[in-house]
Amino acid sequence: MIFRRKASGKVVRHRPRCSFCGKERGEGGVQLVAGAGVYICSECVRVASEILRGHNPPAPAGA
Ligand SMILES: [Zn+2]
Repeated sequence: MIFRRKASGKVVRHRPRCSFCGKERGEGGVQLVAGAGVYICSECVRVASEILRGHNPPAPAGA
C-alpha cells in the first residue's frame, strides 16, 4: 500500500515504486504510472504490452 495510517491518525506517504518489479521512479530512467493503490513502471508496461501482443519476451533483469 502507498499510505500507512499510524495510530496517531497521521497518514505517511511512501515513495511510490512499481508494484510489479519494485523499481522507484527514475531508477534506470523508468517512469511510474499510478493505478488504484498500485504503480507500474514504464518497463513493466512495455513487457506487459509485448505479452498482450502475443510475444514472449525473456523475464526482466533482476526478476
Ligand atoms: Zn516495474
